[in-house]
Amino acid sequence: MPELPEVQLVADGIAKDCTGDVIVDVEVFWPGYIVGADRETLVDLLIGQTIRKTGRRGKFILIYMDRHNILLHLRMTGKVLTSRNPGEPPLHTHLVLTLVSGISLAFNDVRKFGRFELVPVSAWKERLKSLNLGWEPFEEGYTSENLGMAIAGKSRSIKNILLDQRVIAGIGNIYACEILFEAGIDPFRTGGGLNREELERIVSNTRLVLLRAIDRGGASISDYVGVNGESGRMQNFFKVYGRENEECMRCGGTVARVPDIGRSTFLCPSCQE
Ligand SMILES: [Zn+2]
Repeated sequence: MPELPEVQLVADGIAKDCTGDVIVDVEVFWPGYIVGADRETLVDLLIGQTIRKTGRRGKFILIYMDRHNILLHLRMTGKVLTSRNPGEPPLHTHLVLTLVSGISLAFNDVRKFGRFELVPVSAWKERLKSLNLGWEPFEEGYTSENLGMAIAGKSRSIKNILLDQRVIAGIGNIYACEILFEAGIDPFRTGGGLNREELERIVSNTRLVLLRAIDRGGASISDYVGVNGESGRMQNFFKVYGRENEECMRCGGTVARVPDIGRSTFLCPSCQE
C-alpha cells in the first residue's frame, strides 16, 4: 500500500503536470470508484474546473479546483498516471480526466479499493476534519513531548501506535518497521513505556526515513509507480523490511520477521531494544 512518501510523490506529480490546466472531458469506466456524485453529475461538475494545486493529508491526495476539490485515496493498488499522448487507457482504469492542454489523468486501481471523492469547496474543511487524522510527521506539533502525552498509559505497542492514523497520519507497515529500526526501538514495546529520549529518536527518525523515501522516489514493492509510470528506488534501501534472515546492516545480527494478520513486522532483535 502506498504510504506517505508515495502519496506525496503522486500529489507532487499531478501538480507538476496539471497545475493551471482545465478539465475538458471526463470518462467514467467504473462509477463505483466515485463518491459524492453519480456519473452524469460528476461529468457536469468537473468540466470547466481548473486544477489549482495539490496537497496531501495522511495517505489522502488532495486536488484543489474552483468549486469542488477531490479527496483521493489510493488504498492498496491505486495509481494516477498522466500522459501527453493518451491512447487506450490501461486495464483497470476507472476514470480519465482530459485537460485542455491535451494531458490526460487516468485513475487506475486493480483491486478497486481506492476512492475518488468530489467535495464542494464549502464542505471541504468539515470533510477533512471528519477524517479524524492525527499529526502530519513534518508538522511542528509532532514532537516527543506531544507524542509522549498522547500515548501515556497506552498498552498498545509502539508499532501499532505509529500505524494509527488518528495519532500520526501517513505511516504504514513498511515505514513503521524502518522508523523503529533506525530509532533502535523494539516494535513490540508498549508505547506508554517509552521514555522521552526514545520518543525523540522515534520522532526524528520518522522524518528522516520519510524524507529519504521521498528523495528516492518512493518504494515500488507491489504496485506503486509515479504519475509518469516510473518505479521508485526506496525498496533497494530498506534496512529491515523484506529482509528476513539477512544480515543487519548495523550490528551484523540477523533480521527477523514476526508474522501478524495480513502484515509482518521486520526487526533486528539484537539492536532494537
Ligand atoms: Zn542489528
